[in-house]
Amino acid sequence: MRHFSYQRAASVEDAVRAGPGAAFLAGGTSLVDLMKLEVLNPSRLVDVSRLDLRGIEARPDGLRIGACATNSEVAAHPEVKRRFPVLSEALLSGASPQLRNVATVAGNLMQRTRCAYYRDLATACNKREPGSGCAALEGWTRMHAILGGSERCIALHPSDMCVAMAALQAVIHVRGPNGDRDIPFGDFHLLPGDHPEREFALEPGELVLSVFIPFSAAGMRSRYVKVRDRASYAFALASCAAGLEIASGKIRAAQLALGGVGTKPWRVPEAEQALQGQSPERVAFQRAAEIAVRGAQTRRDNAFKMELARRTAVRALTLAAEGA
Ligand code: SF4
Repeated sequence: MRHFSYQRAASVEDAVRAGPGAAFLAGGTSLVDLMKLEVLNPSRLVDVSRLDLRGIEARPDGLRIGACATNSEVAAHPEVKRRFPVLSEALLSGASPQLRNVATVAGNLMQRTRCAYYRDLATACNKREPGSGCAALEGWTRMHAILGGSERCIALHPSDMCVAMAALQAVIHVRGPNGDRDIPFGDFHLLPGDHPEREFALEPGELVLSVFIPFSAAGMRSRYVKVRDRASYAFALASCAAGLEIASGKIRAAQLALGGVGTKPWRVPEAEQALQGQSPERVAFQRAAEIAVRGAQTRRDNAFKMELARRTAVRALTLAAEGA
């Protein structure tokens, strides 16, 4: 049995004071699972679930979502459904109703990979045990990434919510021992590179307080498409969050991110730029989808993801063009 201490934080300041080395506990749907498997072994748990971090607040320029708002609360919020249908759809496509009722926004941001080797203590895994190797490289890779991998890790990022937030260009607000700061969504998740054990751009002791999503015309006309092995409670083989602002028959602005294929939520600014000024038609969507998977590296079991990701992107853009 592994021992750990448990502390219920009385305030945000109290939680931040817990300092480096403490793991923050909210919904626990990911962290507790991984502790049971002994993949994550924090010596201190700081429970932040009862802090006042659950509000969803409309501001003149965007929506601020508290870190402890549950996935269900965010998905059902009228302003989320109206302003960011892609986010509501992405959340509802993930996990199960029971999990969504307790899983939080911050927990979803920090959800760990579903790589089977990461969860199996008997196999080599650089993410779990730096320097030990990567069993996936010569193993079963159907659920692994084709974009953003390195020679040390090709683990897939599993979140749906994060794909929508990447496309919407959210900003994450955190507080730590050195004060508050904002992290652009695209910088929050790190590529594995030489250090797959480092997954987030958080400094030791920093706590996520909220996520800000700016209002945009493309966000209001946005859709999420997820392709998976079964209709519910399954991770994406490929997914796409797409938003389009259309004026006078042309695309004025586009938002595009892929899921189920990258080591992090895979926003593709080059594909977004390629869509600008184009007619919202299949030929432009196919070109953007082609750009979106540029640089992909497939393996024996996941080569099918290239074409699947392209088709998923075309489908999401087509739905966005039709209107949310
Ligand atoms: Fe570990 Fe990453 Fe290799 Fe999976 S892909 S075994 S998480 S190093």
